[in-house]
Amino acid sequence: MITMDSFDFKGKKALVRVDLNVPQDANGKVTDDTRARAIVRTVNKITGDGGSAILMSHLGRPKGKVNPAMSLKPIADHLSGLLGKPVLFAMDCTGPDAKAKSGALQPGEVLVLENLRFHPEEEAGDEAFSKSLSELGDVYVNDAFGTAHRAHASTTIVAKFFPTVKLFGYLMQAEIDSVGKVLGNPQRPMTAIVGGSKVSSKIEVLQNLIGKCDELIIGGGMANTFVKAMGGQTGASLVEEDLLETARSIIAEAKAKGVKLHIPTDAVVADAFAETANTDQCEANAVPDGWMALDIGPKSVEAFRAAVLRSKTLLWNGPMGVFEMKPFQQGTVAIAQSVAEATSHGAFSLVGGGDSVAAVNQFGLAEDQLREHGRWGDAGILGGQGAAGDRCDSRVDPIISQLTWLSG
Ligand code: AMP
Repeated sequence: MITMDSFDFKGKKALVRVDLNVPQDANGKVTDDTRARAIVRTVNKITGDGGSAILMSHLGRPKGKVNPAMSLKPIADHLSGLLGKPVLFAMDCTGPDAKAKSGALQPGEVLVLENLRFHPEEEAGDEAFSKSLSELGDVYVNDAFGTAHRAHASTTIVAKFFPTVKLFGYLMQAEIDSVGKVLGNPQRPMTAIVGGSKVSSKIEVLQNLIGKCDELIIGGGMANTFVKAMGGQTGASLVEEDLLETARSIIAEAKAKGVKLHIPTDAVVADAFAETANTDQCEANAVPDGWMALDIGPKSVEAFRAAVLRSKTLLWNGPMGVFEMKPFQQGTVAIAQSVAEATSHGAFSLVGGGDSVAAVNQFGLAEDQLREHGRWGDAGILGGQGAAGDRCDSRVDPIISQLTWLSG
């Protein structure tokens, strides 16, 4: 993989995704410039080599509409002070002004593009929009740790248009290194919590984790395949019949390696996959015909919570239930709270995957820390692979790539 130190930016126009989402007061004055300071090293390396930098970022939540109160212009001016040189500004992140200004950029110059989120295509991960961004530069640098887990146009999607010349900025690399260090030599016990819809999308992560953690918690839709593999009745729950054997081999491997495996013992069940469905609770291995398990039940919550609270290192990927629907979000909320509690007592926790991070956000847990530092207490929050490399596609989660790196 190309690194900042090994890459020579001379004569290159670097398109850099940064995080300039800094807090401002009512007059637009920057009240905390930590994030802007954090990118200075990356920008200086590019311009110092004789390259130019085109910086793109979001600011606030303009919801896909132009909102002058969320313009990046004042932030660009502030950055100019930090860099000690003029910073150019394009009135839009795509279109004629961005094209002309990036085209005319000279070695050593820095251009900031207007707020990406003035376009709904940014958060939608629109390919055509990503392509137009990609045309502004000839190398892509992702240095926006806080948004890396989202498959937005300027992060995961734009990286595809730079198949060979994409790299992590210094800030992003430092976060990844610190996570790698922790995972390479974790404080024990280490517990992994894996949820989400399907075993099939996380086989690799499950197999990787078995060799690394002391306890493994499986929740979400994928738990049903494990319950059925152990002979349980799963009713109309989501089950991957073709993976029953895989689930059995994961159970056997956990046993052989002395990993304590937690599968839900009870469930919140529904008679339809809907917010308005009739709901009930039952043993996880006795789901009535026509009913489906859509969340873990209270006994499972207690067992999982106890495991989380005795852990010193936590990896969490994937919700415990269909958390998008109110009746099925208790399990995920409880896990989010227990991970937060363990973290506040000194555990290192890494929350990966858009859904888990979305859950943490949705439930308002530690939101400020998340926003301000892209971190959650001591926890690194990592998702989406950004420019991680060719081994991942946009659906693959960075925890997988982290663990792949560590095991490879
Ligand atoms: P993933 O993208 O694989 O991490 O899966 C996330 C999705 O899994 C979320 O949209 C959840 O609604 C869904 N999910 C979680 N638990 C269940 C369940 N018990 N049955 C069906 N879908 C689930």
